[in-house]
Amino acid sequence: MQQRALGLKRTGKTIGLVPTMGFLHEGHLSLMRLARERCDVLVVSIYVNPAQFAPTEDLDAYPRDFGRDEELCNQEGVDLLFYPATMYADDASTWIDEKALSEGLCGAAREGHFQGVCTVVAKLFNLVLPDLAVFGEKDAQQLRIIERMVRDLNFPVEIVRGPILREPDGLAMSSRNKYLSAQQREEALCLRRSLDGVQKLYGEGERSVAVLRRKMLDCIEPVEGAEVDYIEFVDDGSLVAMDEVRGDVLVALAVKIGSTRLIDNEVLHA
Ligand code: AMP
Repeated sequence: MQQRALGLKRTGKTIGLVPTMGFLHEGHLSLMRLARERCDVLVVSIYVNPAQFAPTEDLDAYPRDFGRDEELCNQEGVDLLFYPATMYADDASTWIDEKALSEGLCGAAREGHFQGVCTVVAKLFNLVLPDLAVFGEKDAQQLRIIERMVRDLNFPVEIVRGPILREPDGLAMSSRNKYLSAQQREEALCLRRSLDGVQKLYGEGERSVAVLRRKMLDCIEPVEGAEVDYIEFVDDGSLVAMDEVRGDVLVALAVKIGSTRLIDNEVLHA
């Protein structure tokens, strides 16, 4: 991959990268379309990165369908599909640790997760040598951590944000939605409903995080199969939690529907 990328660079081509874990859906395809417009060579990577899964998580069960993914990439005009079998030497011992934005939200519940994400993304940048890389707002914390890493470590890569793509009923698209039974699929709508509720209350002038969070809990707690992992209101830049909404605030939540952990988020703009 790196040899190919170096060759492309020598001929003056710009490279766009969309990193994924496969089992592609419209959300992933929307990122590819964003990248496609802005580069000569579009590279998509598919790699279910073991380093970002804790031993208790769903690494082995994570859905995979390379044949279908390949077909979708062809339809989207992807030039290179990077599909490595592994990305780490057996005795790999160098890791990237972002130490501020990774502490809360998903980082609190998923130990080592963002270390795995940062390391694999840095490796992908070194292999693919992209001019730009597109990441989805769906993973809001991940996106901000990657932007911080790129700034702090001077990667010559422009990070492009891709908006969240949703199913017609509002559920954020995710490869993990495949785990949901028909009833759980219905229950999962409580995430979107809670964000709609908070948006409405915020629009009416409410600024107390306790009141806004209560509104969200009222949407989720009555749902039998739903268990809140976290609901956080954090400063959109620093990801520090706040009591009172001031400036741009990221509202992020993780909810378990049965054993499937779903995330969603929205920014309340000042
Ligand atoms: P994943 O394969 O889940 O690791 O996601 C690969 C990329 O697609 C990440 O940048 C995600 O943020 C992005 N992504 C996942 N779901 C969506 C969605 N519903 N809308 C937009 N981007 C998404």
